Amino acid sequence: MLSFNKLADISKVVCISAAISGIAACSSTPSTPLAGVKSHTLSNAVIYQTSSKEYPVLSSFVYNQAIAALPARFANGDVVVMDVDETVLDNSTYQKERESVGLGYSSQSWADWVKREEATLVPGVADFIDEVVKRNGKVALITNRDKTLDKHTWNNLLAQGLPLNTSNTCVVGRTSKDKEAVGQEGMINDKDLRRMQLTQGKIACSNTSNDTASTWAVPHAIIMQIGDNIEDVGGVTQESANVELLMPRVGTEIFILPNPMYGSW
Ligand SMILES: [Mg+2]
Repeated sequence: MLSFNKLADISKVVCISAAISGIAACSSTPSTPLAGVKSHTLSNAVIYQTSSKEYPVLSSFVYNQAIAALPARFANGDVVVMDVDETVLDNSTYQKERESVGLGYSSQSWADWVKREEATLVPGVADFIDEVVKRNGKVALITNRDKTLDKHTWNNLLAQGLPLNTSNTCVVGRTSKDKEAVGQEGMINDKDLRRMQLTQGKIACSNTSNDTASTWAVPHAIIMQIGDNIEDVGGVTQESANVELLMPRVGTEIFILPNPMYGSW
């Protein structure tokens, strides 16, 4: 099995992140032009995600491992928590467009991109979600996209043909309350409040009704967490995460995908 360290090594690829609000674009790091090949301005990180064979191999491998760790049938209330960007949706087109004109991340251009609803799927995720749904499972998509953009996230996911509906999937973006909660008891990172709300039956899904008849208005047990950022795991920060302590859970309840383009590192 591929070690966590290998994945961490990959995530270090040249890109320097601005670590902005859940997604950050890289500073453009020109690749070394090859003799006879037209030079370009895309970073190695974007080229890796859009053109390498290694990226789809790794992502699909992680998702295959996650499928192998799923229960044969989910118990009522069991849920997989997934991040969205570079976990379910691949935003390398956005990164490529920005870099190709010499620009980086901005909140306005990011919002415009999300509203286009054109992100594609991370390799392997469709098979994983198919298996979750087949096994009577539920998915909570806890994303640091702004909550006001949730309808576009939902539309984008449906447009990609995923077998999602309002009973089996909850989309919940970030609000100022998520950031303000950090530092309160049990709230280590800005997704912890939503994780707690999910376990208490109080999650405010944007794509479903929030009345008592909702399948989400009951307590849930988080059986798996999947993301491209260590903070997609509850109770840790980039700075505090202890890889050695996390490793026994990686491959069974924690799965981390490669994302060379940006992060909180
Ligand atoms: Mg992400």
